Amino acid sequence: MSTTPTFLQPAARAAGYRPSPVRDFWEVSMQPGFISLAGGNPDLSVLPLAELGATASRIITERGMDALQYGSGTGTPGARDAAARVMAAEGNPVDPSAIQITAGSQMALELVVKLLCDPGDVILAEGPTYVGALGVFAGMEAEVVHVPMDADGLQPDALEETIGRLRSQGRTIKALYTIPNFHNPTGITLSAERRPRVVEICSRAGIPIIEDNPYGLLAFDGSTLPSMHQLDPENVIYLGSFSKIVAPGLRVGWAVAPESLRRPLQLASEATTICASVLSQTLIEEYVLGSDWQGILDKARALYRERSAAVQEALREHLPSGTRWSEPRGGFFTWLDLAEGSDCHAVLDAAIDAKVVFVPGTAFYSGPDRGPGAPGISQLRLAFSLEDADTLREGVKRLAAAIRG
Ligand code: PMP
Repeated sequence: MSTTPTFLQPAARAAGYRPSPVRDFWEVSMQPGFISLAGGNPDLSVLPLAELGATASRIITERGMDALQYGSGTGTPGARDAAARVMAAEGNPVDPSAIQITAGSQMALELVVKLLCDPGDVILAEGPTYVGALGVFAGMEAEVVHVPMDADGLQPDALEETIGRLRSQGRTIKALYTIPNFHNPTGITLSAERRPRVVEICSRAGIPIIEDNPYGLLAFDGSTLPSMHQLDPENVIYLGSFSKIVAPGLRVGWAVAPESLRRPLQLASEATTICASVLSQTLIEEYVLGSDWQGILDKARALYRERSAAVQEALREHLPSGTRWSEPRGGFFTWLDLAEGSDCHAVLDAAIDAKVVFVPGTAFYSGPDRGPGAPGISQLRLAFSLEDADTLREGVKRLAAAIRG
C-alpha cells in the first residue's frame, strides 16, 4: 500500500475542490459528431479579429514599455474607465476610481470571499448556483446554504426564513451571493419587484450582498434592470466581467466594493497576482474606448436570442411530458426539471452514447452528487451560446431520446 509522504499531505481545504464537470466533458465533447450543450462559452465569431490583432500589435509596438510592464494593483486607468463605461451602459454609473480590476471576475469573487469568510462561516446562494462559485466557497472553507428560486428568481420570503433559521442555530452568515441577471445555471432573472426587497432584507440583517453580474448586458431585447449595487452601494459588492461581452481569454474582470473594503481588496489582489495582465487590460481599454463595442454586442445578442428560441422550440417539440424548463430572456442557459425520480447522471450516460453532452444538475448545488436525495439529481443545464440553431435543435432531439431512455 502506498502512503502519501506527510510533506505532501494537502491542507483540509483542498478536499473541498470538486472537478469542473464542464472541463471534464471537454475532451468528450471535442470528438467528431458530438454536440456540446455543456460549456457556457461566448460566441467570439462576432469579434473583429483582424482589427483586434492590429490593435494588439500596435499596443506592443507603441505602448509596449507600459503594456508589457507590471501595472497598478487596482488596474490600469484605461481598464477601470472601460469597466465604468460598461456599468454605465447597464444604467449603473460608478466612478472609475471605485473599480478594482482582477484577472477575471472569478478572481474577484475569490478575493471577496477570502476577505469576508472564516472557515465555517455561511454564504447564502441561490439553489442552484454557479459551479465556479461553489469551488471558491469550498476553497475558503465557507459553508453554502442554498435559498430556493422560482421563475422570478431568488425567493425573498425563503431568504428571510433561512436567515432567521441559521441565526437561531448560532450560525454566522457572511454574505448573500447572487446572480440576478440571466442566472447561471437557470437563465432566470430576479424580477424588478423583488430586487429592493432582497436588498432591504440583507441590509436589515447586516448581510452584505455579492452581486455577480457577467450577463447583465446580454438581454435578448437589450433591456436592463436596476442592479442591486445601484439600490444599495453601501452593502453590495458588485462583480463585473469582460468575459461574456468581449473575450474570456483576456481574463479581465472587476469588483466595485463599498469604500471600507476597497483597500483590503487591492492588497489581497496584489498578494495574489500583483496585477492583472496589463496587455489584456490595454487591449480592453482600446476595444471599449475606441470601437463600436455596443454594436458588436448587439450582434452577439441577436445570435443568442435566435439560439435560445431554437432550443425552446425544440424542447416543446421533443421533450416528454413531465419535463419543465426555464424560458430565459437573455444570457447563455436553460434549466431543465426532469420528471420526478429521474437521475441526471443516467441521462448523461445515455446522452453521451447519443453524442450530446450537458451539465448534470447536481454540479450546481453543494451536497452529495449522487443518489436519490442529491440536490439537482433530476435537473440539468443546457447552454445555447456556442452552437448554431440547427445544431442546437439536433442536440435537443438527441437529449430527448436520452431522457426517454
Ligand atoms: N460568475 C458567473 C456567474 C459565471 O458564469 C462566470 C463564467 N462562467 C464567472 C463568474 C467567471 O467569469 P470570468 O471569466 O470573468 O472569471
